[in-house]
Amino acid sequence: MPTIEEMKQAAIAAIEERKEEIIGVARTILQNPETGFTEQKTSRLVQQKFGEMGIPFQGGLAITGVKGMVQGKAGPGPTVAVFGELDSLRVLEHPFHDDVTGAAHACGHHCQVANMMGAMVGVMAPGVIDHLSGRIAPIAVPAEEFIEVERRMRLRDEGKIEFMGGKQEFIKLGVFDDVDMAMISHTSSEQFKLGIGGTSNGHVVKFVQFTGRGAHAGGAPHMGLNALNAAMIALSAINANRETFRDQDTVRVHGILTRGGDAVSAVPSNVTLEWRVRSGNLDALVGNSGKVDRCFRAGALAVGAQLSITNIPGYLPMRNNAIMQELYTRNARELVGEDAVLVRPATHNGGGSTDMGDLAQIMPLIHPYCGGATGTGHGADYVIKDYDTAVIAAAKAMAMTVIDLLADGAQKAREVKATDRPPMTREQYLKFQRERAEVVRFDGANG
Ligand SMILES: [Zn+2]
Ligand SMILES: [Zn+2]
Repeated sequence: MPTIEEMKQAAIAAIEERKEEIIGVARTILQNPETGFTEQKTSRLVQQKFGEMGIPFQGGLAITGVKGMVQGKAGPGPTVAVFGELDSLRVLEHPFHDDVTGAAHACGHHCQVANMMGAMVGVMAPGVIDHLSGRIAPIAVPAEEFIEVERRMRLRDEGKIEFMGGKQEFIKLGVFDDVDMAMISHTSSEQFKLGIGGTSNGHVVKFVQFTGRGAHAGGAPHMGLNALNAAMIALSAINANRETFRDQDTVRVHGILTRGGDAVSAVPSNVTLEWRVRSGNLDALVGNSGKVDRCFRAGALAVGAQLSITNIPGYLPMRNNAIMQELYTRNARELVGEDAVLVRPATHNGGGSTDMGDLAQIMPLIHPYCGGATGTGHGADYVIKDYDTAVIAAAKAMAMTVIDLLADGAQKAREVKATDRPPMTREQYLKFQRERAEVVRFDGANG
């Protein structure tokens, strides 16, 4: 019976041996970026790799998701999931963007499927899997980036999805019902090799539509009703509220105009926006979302336009499980050295949002970061320079943490399961999110 340390060394050696192949997966996905719920090529690649590795899997979950399941050979125990996110962003100026769709891996998710595969190479090594109890579930999840809202609303209307984030939809589908805890490694361009800790913002996603009346912009503008002006007034009103946002609530309010009119010679009658309200706690989120809705109403009222706001349940704040974080931190330090590991306090909020936060409401998990990127996240210059860190070190650290959890009869995993106190059950989560979904309509002409 090998020691835990010997098992970790066996996993590291197995990953090291197949390093080029594992990094190759990341490079292939980088060259084939696909946005949320359209990740067909990436999904096929995952299924091909699972097949080659002898991992039984189920595909087609929330359109493109893939769930594998590997049995430890030392008896029953909890199930630990290792995730990779399938989707890219859209950044047209990115060096590796798709010419047709504008999709680009400007958040480094192409490294995640690879570091998930790498972790599986490690835990499935002969001197390792024989001595693990319970199960390991590698899961490729669609649509973490909450973008292209209008297209996802169509998918929802067609009955293909209900929630617009991949892990949200997986929770609804029951994909995580036989999973007890989870982990993922996300790339970062900050100055560390491996990092963990901190939280993230919750958010509300808004699809906003102003409807006015078209008319000849030169000949009869007085006959029109300018929906673009309504939107402009709304944006000014939102900016006028910024002084009310408290620093400790890490509020971010931002958005894009997705349609500003159809022809320059006509008064714009159909104007749409995708908007985002983020806050670090749910009370602030509800309050700030209401303020922003009021601002959109103000725009409609000013010109007498019709307004429709579709409020879509976004993500919830992140929560790292303390025991899993401690195990991961120890492994990270052993792997890359103490100075190259960053541990953030649980209260540190980076300002972004992730659907790992949604899953953290119902089960213990960790969301570590791996360095190796340069540039600004979501920017045209965000690229991976050091795949050894972003893929290989991340894979090894996750494999080592799975070993800690599932070796020795899965003692540690059982302890995590017994002591973690998730704020919600799956049913409470679904109820909470469904109650946040609403369509606000306002008639500015009769306001
Ligand atoms: Zn991102
Ligand atoms: Zn990301």
